[in-house]
Amino acid sequence: MVDNVYRTRSLGVAAVGLPDQYADGRAAKVWQLYIGDRRSRTDEYRSAVVQLLRQHQCQRVLDVACGTGVDSIMLLEEGFNMMSADASDKMLKYALKERWNRRKEEAFDKWVIEEANWLTLPNDIQKPGDGFDAVICLGNSFAHLPDFKGDQSDQKLALRNIASMVKPGGILIIDHRNYDAILETGEAPKGKNIYYKSDLTRDINTSVLYVNNKPHMVTLDYTVRVPNKDSDEQPDVSTFRLSYYPHRVDAFTALLKNAFQGKCQHNLYGDFKPYETGQGYVPCYFIHVVKKTG
Ligand code: SAH
Repeated sequence: MVDNVYRTRSLGVAAVGLPDQYADGRAAKVWQLYIGDRRSRTDEYRSAVVQLLRQHQCQRVLDVACGTGVDSIMLLEEGFNMMSADASDKMLKYALKERWNRRKEEAFDKWVIEEANWLTLPNDIQKPGDGFDAVICLGNSFAHLPDFKGDQSDQKLALRNIASMVKPGGILIIDHRNYDAILETGEAPKGKNIYYKSDLTRDINTSVLYVNNKPHMVTLDYTVRVPNKDSDEQPDVSTFRLSYYPHRVDAFTALLKNAFQGKCQHNLYGDFKPYETGQGYVPCYFIHVVKKTG
């Protein structure tokens, strides 16, 4: 794995709108391959998310980054009442198709899917009463939101909007890759990926973009080798690139507390195990569970 580090003084992107990185439909397609079968979140992942939701007596759940529907489908199968949203119609296409194919199952018939952007969430989504029992934003999704203005104002607005969907006493479960480790070592931790179950060979090539000496963007180039049906043939190699804002765990915790105006209890997990900052273990993902107390 090669480690590229780009450094630049400033970035001329002020006039750029927020891109849908999945807009050409290609990343959405390869993403499906990357995460494996839509129903194969690892058992560890499935039971951790389900346990968190049950522990907090959640029934009505909003997935604000449903993508192709991987978490929402998993939770529908576990008996939760789902509303699922995403800004990318190319990703939603897969979720909509699954809902159609399984429309005879009551949970899928009742499944609400909306196109919605975190920056305009209250306009895009009908909040039930005082909110959802739980809001989830998983699969390193929030890090897709860049910081073009350089003051994190879009990220703060998005988190406030996401927090506003949680009812008092409800929870937000939101995650990001371990960017502290990525920035320190120049590559994504190589531990077991507890998120996705896939038999395909996958590589991630990491690049870090610095602006004014601050890490501004992390680009991950994913390579997925898809075996040819005729096993003698060379595997097909699919690649796709996604860019992320590298949220550091302490800074992101502070952003979250602000989004809830301090009226919250925050718990941090590393790969779904309780985590204390400075602990020796290097998780691949951080998962924040924030309970709205006011
Ligand atoms: N949770 C899914 C999807 C991860 S990909 C999984 O784990 O597989 C991240 C998703 O976030 C993409 O589908 C992308 O369209 C969505 N996304 C990125 N920026 C967004 C925004 N501003 N508003 C809503 N969704 C957004």
